[in-house]
Amino acid sequence: MAIQRIVDTSDHEDDNDEKVIEISLRPATFAEYVGQERLKTNLQLAIDAAKKRNEPLDHILLYGPPGLGKTTMATVIANEMGAAIRVTAGPAIERAADLASILTSLQDGDILFIDEIHRLSRTVEEVLYAAMEDYKLDIMIGKGPGARSVRLDLPKFTIIGATTRTGALAAPLRDRFGHIYRLEFYSHDEIGSIISRASSILGTTIHPEAAEILSTRARLTPRIANRLLKRVRDYADVNGDGIIDTVITTKALGLLEVDELGLDAGDRNLLERMIEMYGMNPVGLNTLAALTGDESSTIEDFYEPYLLQIGLLERTPRGRRVTMRAYTHLGKSHSDDASDLV
Ligand code: ADP
Repeated sequence: MAIQRIVDTSDHEDDNDEKVIEISLRPATFAEYVGQERLKTNLQLAIDAAKKRNEPLDHILLYGPPGLGKTTMATVIANEMGAAIRVTAGPAIERAADLASILTSLQDGDILFIDEIHRLSRTVEEVLYAAMEDYKLDIMIGKGPGARSVRLDLPKFTIIGATTRTGALAAPLRDRFGHIYRLEFYSHDEIGSIISRASSILGTTIHPEAAEILSTRARLTPRIANRLLKRVRDYADVNGDGIIDTVITTKALGLLEVDELGLDAGDRNLLERMIEMYGMNPVGLNTLAALTGDESSTIEDFYEPYLLQIGLLERTPRGRRVTMRAYTHLGKSHSDDASDLV
C-alpha cells in the first residue's frame, strides 16, 4: 500500500474534526463555488430550462482529476434545483439488486450522485441504461424456466455521474448522459480565493503573501488547497500565535516536503527515477507504476494529471516522458540520466 501523501487528492478524512470542517468548507451554491465558469454557465442554463419546463434535469457526467469539485458541484446542482440528493459510488453498487433498491427508493426530481461511475460492473451498468433512458427497471422474478422479466416504472430522477477518466466508461453508458463536462484545474487566483474563503470560514488569519505561497503549492486543486491550509494552521497554532504568515507557511510546507511547484517526495521520486533510468525516453504506464510501487490507476489519477498540466511530464504515443522543465526543476542535467543506454 502506498504511503499517504499530503498532496494526495483522494478524499480520505484525516480525523473527525476534518470531516466536520470539510462539510462547512464545501460551497453550497453557484455563487460560493469558485471558478469553472464555463461549467457553471452551462449548468445554470440547464437548471433554468428544467425549472421552467417543470422537468427533471437531464443526466450529467462530470469528469476530471480528483479534488477539483465534482462531488461539490453535484450538491450545488441539487441545491440550485431544490432537489434531494442521494450519494453513492460505483464500487458500492455491487449487484443489480443494489441499484434496483436505490432507484425504487427515489422520488420524482431526486438526484442520484454516483461517484467513480467507471467502476460499476457491466451487469449493473446494463440495468442503469434502461433506467436512465426510459425511467424503467427490468427485473427478473423467479429462477430457472419459470423466471420472467417484469418492467417497473421509476420516478423521473437525474443521475450525476463523476469519473476521473471518461475513457474508462463504456460508450453506451456515456451516451446516456445529456451533459458531459470536464472540470479544469484552477488558476492560481482562483485557488487564492478558495484559500481566503476557507480561512475566513475557519476563523484563521492568513497574510496575503502567505496565501500566495499556499496557492502556488496547492497543485491548482481545491482539495489540496484546503488540506494544506489546515496543516499550516495546525503549525501556526502550535508554533506561533495562530496567525499564518510567510515564515510559518514556508516552515510548515518544508516539514511536509511540499516544494515550490507543489510536488511532494512521491512526485520527485517518480521524476528522478524516470530521469535516472530512461532519460527523456517515453515510459509505459505499467513501468511507471513499477518504478514507484503504486497501482497504475494511482499514477493516472493522482500523479500524472498535475505533472502534465504544469509541463513536467508529457504524453507521447509511446508513453509518458519527462521534459526539460522537470530536469531544471530537480536541478538535474543530461549527464545524470541513462538516455543513451535505452
Ligand atoms: P471531487 O469530487 O472532484 O474529488 P470534491 O467536490 O470532493 O472533489 O472537492 C474537494 C473539496 O474541495 C471540497 O470538499 C470543497 O471543500 C473544495 N472545493 C472543491 N471545489 C471547490 C470550488 N469550486 N470552490 C471552493 N471549494 C471547492
